[in-house]
Amino acid sequence: MTTIVTLNKPIIEDWLQQLADVITDPDELLQLLQLDTHPELLKGKNARSLFPLRVPRAFVARMRKGDANDPLLRQVLTSSAEFTSPEDFITDPLEEQRTATPGLLHKYHNRVLLLVKGSCAINCRYCFRRHFPYQDNQGNKKNWQLALDYIRQHPELDEIIFSGGDPLMAKDHELSWLIDVLEKIAHIKRLRIHTRLPVVIPTRITTALCQKFHASRLQIVLVTHINHANEIDNALCDSMTKLKTKGVTLLNQSVLLRGVNDNVEVLAQLSNALFNAGILPYYLHVLDKVKGAAHFMVNDDEARRLINGLLGCISGYLVPRLVREIAGKKSKTPLTLS
Ligand code: SF4
Repeated sequence: MTTIVTLNKPIIEDWLQQLADVITDPDELLQLLQLDTHPELLKGKNARSLFPLRVPRAFVARMRKGDANDPLLRQVLTSSAEFTSPEDFITDPLEEQRTATPGLLHKYHNRVLLLVKGSCAINCRYCFRRHFPYQDNQGNKKNWQLALDYIRQHPELDEIIFSGGDPLMAKDHELSWLIDVLEKIAHIKRLRIHTRLPVVIPTRITTALCQKFHASRLQIVLVTHINHANEIDNALCDSMTKLKTKGVTLLNQSVLLRGVNDNVEVLAQLSNALFNAGILPYYLHVLDKVKGAAHFMVNDDEARRLINGLLGCISGYLVPRLVREIAGKKSKTPLTLS
C-alpha cells in the first residue's frame, strides 16, 4: 500500500509519513534492538554531534535484535571511533565542495551530477558527503534553473545523474517538473538516479513515479545503494519489480565496509540477492577517505582478494567492478586484480 486515504483529508503518501517518523536518537535505536545496556555501543552516542543519526523504522525492522554486530546497524549507528581520524581522512576526499554552479557537479565529460536534494532518509556513517556544505547547494527551483541553464549550454552532455543527498527526497511533482524540463533539452538522452531511499523505505516507489518514468522519452537508470543481502526484503523486491515492468534499468553500487560486507560469502549472497530482486551488481567502491569513517576501511590488497574469491564462486556477470574514485579523474578508477 503506498497511500493512506482518510475522509476529508488530503492523501498523504506513506513514504512521507515514514520519513517524518525516522529514528534520530541513538538511545531509541538501541532500545528497539535490545542493545541499550551494551557499554561499547553506548559510548558512541556523542558522535551524533559529528553527523546526525537518522534511520527509518522499515530499515531497523531488518536488523537482528540483540546483535551488536548486525551489518545494517553498523552502517547507521554512531560510534566513538568517529572521533579518531587518521590525517589522510579528510572532510572533502573527492574535492567536490567547490562547485561551478550551486548543486551541479561536472566531473565527467558526458554527464553531470545534479544534487537534487541535500538530505537523505538515512545517514550512513561512512558517507563521503557527510561534511558536504548542502546549505550552499540547496535543492530548490532557483538552483535547479541555474543547473538546467548550464546543461542547455553544454551539448557534450547526454546523461544527467540525479544525486544528493538522496534525489528521491524530492516529491513526485518536483521530479516530474525536472524530468519535463530535461526532456525538452534535445542532447539529453539518459537520466540516471542514484538513490538509497527505496532501499530503506520501499514505498518511495510510488505508482505515479513509475508512470512518469514509463512515459518519459529519456532512458531511465536507477542505481540503488545496497551493501548487504539483509537489506533486501519482499517490500524492496516488489518496488523493484514495479520499476522493471516500467522499463527502468536497475543497477546497484555498494561500498566495501569493514564489519559489514568484507567477506566473500557475504558479497556472494549480496550479488545473488540483488539479481533475484532484478538488480545487476555494478560497482563495489573502496571507501573514500572521509573524516570519521576510518574504522570502515578495507585496504586494497584485501579488496582484491575478496573480488578474486568472488570470481571463484559466482557467475562473472554478478561480480561488481571494484573501483575507487580519485578527485579530478574523468571516471572511476578500476583496481586491477592480480
Ligand atoms: S544515502 Fe547516500 S548520500 Fe545519503 S548518507 Fe547514505 S551514502 Fe550518503
